[in-house]
Amino acid sequence: MSENLYELLAGGFPEDRTRPCFLLSEGTAISYGALEKGAALAAGRLTALGVEPGDRVALQADKSPEAVMVYLGALKAGAVYLPLNSAYTPAEIDYFRQDAEPKAFVTDPPAFMAEARSAKPLQAVVPRAGSDLASIIYTSGTTGRSKGAMLSHGALAANAQALHEAWGFSPEDVLLHALPIFHVHGLFVAMHCAFLSGCPMVWLPKFSEAEVLAGLRRATVMMGVPTFYTRLLASPDFSRETAAHMRLFISGSAPLLPSTFEAFQERAGMRILERYGMSEAVIITTNPLHGERIPGSVGYPLPGVELRIAGDEETGVIQIRGPSLFSGYWRNPEKTAEEFTADGWFITGDVGRRDPDGRVWISGRAKDLIISGGYNVYPKEVELVVDELPGVVESAVIGVPHPDFGEGVVAVVIGTGEEAAIIGEARRKLAAYKAPKRVVFVAELPRNAMGKVQKNQLRERYAALFETRLAGR
Ligand code: AMP
Repeated sequence: MSENLYELLAGGFPEDRTRPCFLLSEGTAISYGALEKGAALAAGRLTALGVEPGDRVALQADKSPEAVMVYLGALKAGAVYLPLNSAYTPAEIDYFRQDAEPKAFVTDPPAFMAEARSAKPLQAVVPRAGSDLASIIYTSGTTGRSKGAMLSHGALAANAQALHEAWGFSPEDVLLHALPIFHVHGLFVAMHCAFLSGCPMVWLPKFSEAEVLAGLRRATVMMGVPTFYTRLLASPDFSRETAAHMRLFISGSAPLLPSTFEAFQERAGMRILERYGMSEAVIITTNPLHGERIPGSVGYPLPGVELRIAGDEETGVIQIRGPSLFSGYWRNPEKTAEEFTADGWFITGDVGRRDPDGRVWISGRAKDLIISGGYNVYPKEVELVVDELPGVVESAVIGVPHPDFGEGVVAVVIGTGEEAAIIGEARRKLAAYKAPKRVVFVAELPRNAMGKVQKNQLRERYAALFETRLAGR
């Protein structure tokens, strides 16, 4: 029996295919029937281009319904979908091309779909086993090189079904979708829930205060990164009344501050449901739909997910096992081996603890990953760029609390130079969200006996950097 994820997703589409899938901001809609037809055309076009089962299909483009058609078409054709952050620079893209060797690279989905209209649509779904790859999601490594997390049809199917159930999705729901679709959050977590219930999505190209406020009036569920919630709270127009139609607000991809949770409850009268996940495992834990949602906790492991804390201490690195776990890093068996224990558990790299009843709390990241606006920034990658600049002797890149982005990237630099020039140069070489927002100059960096830079100390020292800046505005 084929376990192609496309079959599972399309099985959730409404029987009446004229029902809307994408509710667009101009008041127009694209039906589930049109999505299904688009997927068949995209699959036909990819096949005509020579894409065979197992071949990679990359896409780097702005968010659009056509990009979703290409995604579903790639699945249907048995290809491996490779979404790429639209902020990546050509140099970054070169690396992904070399590493993943995509057979097709789509940069303009509407143009691709226009061409596909003359292709022969692929009606039959290409059979796939549950262990066959459906997607590769690149996540940067601490060495600065990105690793491709391989996700199988079976893993994505298991997670989609568990979430659909856990969050009580039904055909009556309307999902507000303002997330990017090159990351697991918007691509898999959000869209798969909508597809499995056959419900419409209020489809926004990105988070815009006015559009989200308007969208909430016709939506029932919103999925967002913590930044979405701080932005809503910053709007004087956001109130109980705006959220009156909503049944559920979900947050993830970065820690939701308890102060945000509480302010939101006060303003909207609703408790945000926080969940925890990562590219390598999609969603791992979630606060309950019906039980208690506790600020600062990420809830309980999803059914089927096993979670344990490494070591003898109460708090330690979280390790997991389960049906939605990735199949390893693309063409990188050494890295794969490093991130699994000898007895087969995946080492998440997140540090946390667990209550006796299984509830999970995350206290930080073992590595020095920075999450700015919901996106991961790996300090090493930024340091490599800053260190190359004239006058810079050495740099240490850290994340410190930022009222809008959760964390803001800061480069602590030994050397001479202009803050604005370093930021400008970094922005030319890196996606904007990775570039430092502040540069501070120091005479030396704090180090331990082994010569390792003590980033904790730096983070403490500069913890209020963005607060003071805002206060002084
Ligand atoms: P990514 O692979 O880009 O999805 O990033 C995964 C990382 O984001 C995880 O390993 C966590 O460090 C972090 N993360 C995701 N959700 C949460 C959350 N609710 N609370 C704290 N950290 C989170």
